[in-house]
Amino acid sequence: MNDFIPPAKPIIGDEEREAVDRVMRSGMLAQGPEVKAFEEEFAAHFGLGRACVAVNSGTSGQHLGLLSSGVKAGDEVIVPSFTFAATANSVALTGATPVFADIDADDFCLSPAAIEASITERTVGVMPVHLYGHPAKMDQIMAIADKHGIQVFEDAAQAHGASLDGTPVGAFGSFAMFSLYPTKNMTSGEGGMVSVANSDIEHLMRLYRNQGMEKQYHNEVVGLNNRMTDIHAAIGRVQLTKVGAWTKQRQENAAFLTANLEGVVTPPVSEGAVHVYHQYTVRVPHDRDGLAAALREEHNIGSGMFYPVPNHRLTPFQIGADLPETERAAAECLSLPVHPSLSDHDLERIVTAVNGLAKAGA
Ligand SMILES: *Cc1c(COP(=O)(O)O)cnc(C)c1O
Repeated sequence: MNDFIPPAKPIIGDEEREAVDRVMRSGMLAQGPEVKAFEEEFAAHFGLGRACVAVNSGTSGQHLGLLSSGVKAGDEVIVPSFTFAATANSVALTGATPVFADIDADDFCLSPAAIEASITERTVGVMPVHLYGHPAKMDQIMAIADKHGIQVFEDAAQAHGASLDGTPVGAFGSFAMFSLYPTKNMTSGEGGMVSVANSDIEHLMRLYRNQGMEKQYHNEVVGLNNRMTDIHAAIGRVQLTKVGAWTKQRQENAAFLTANLEGVVTPPVSEGAVHVYHQYTVRVPHDRDGLAAALREEHNIGSGMFYPVPNHRLTPFQIGADLPETERAAAECLSLPVHPSLSDHDLERIVTAVNGLAKAGA
């Protein structure tokens, strides 16, 4: 049988290993000059035009971003249900209530109409997710937020380098979180980077990540230890020099799949959107699970389901919301390998396998 094609594959090179070694030799391992440099280089690389604050995970970044934006117990924040649980978890951890709204069928992201219908007098913000690396409908979402006087918080965990009408994701909301987990489009081992809209949010972020201290032992607020280490920042700085080429390769791989796949619904890209294909997610209207199992068992090709259980049905939330597009996406979504390590032969194998199975199943 052909070699296994994994659904995702972090790429770590000699440069990353050398960077880690450089930090280890310096003897300064915790948050220091590498973190500061990484923050500045990240903001510049993605053209965010804002300050960035590095933390130890994307989830921490979301949590601290919400706290720094003033979200507190009793508030409501509108989130998609069709996302990773960190989105709703970060809201719940502040004491606020995540309110689940439905997605649009075209881009798998929050529906502007559903957001507007979910706003109550307790709503303080909305957290769109740029799911799979496709920007949410930020033009419409920003207009709705403006009209109702609520904040926008971006979950850009999967969307490094994505943009809408030339504006990069991460430059829209009060803050935006980028995850640096190993399977994301770039990694620092674990980590998160948060872009912030103003110096007040930035200041609070820096306090909350460091026990509430800016000046040592003069704690100003109750905080956590969510610092990034210089070891992780050194890895991230190297990855930053490579992520542009990787993204281009993801986009080329996606273009090949879209041009050649048959029998499944390929992911559309909205006008004005730059999609960075963290995932290449097709819809399989009939027997998605059977197709995934056959890809694995008959063709040695991995795939993923992001996400098979909508968040509003997870044990901690258990909310009886009526979210038909979310339910449909959860039942139909299948993410095929699109990562930059795929060879032309791998891509051919994926197309041949999916087309053959989809035809046989039809
Ligand atoms: C990965 C991810 C997160 C959380 O990021 P971590 O770095 O794993 O904490 C949040 N939201 C989405 C949509 C993600 O994919």
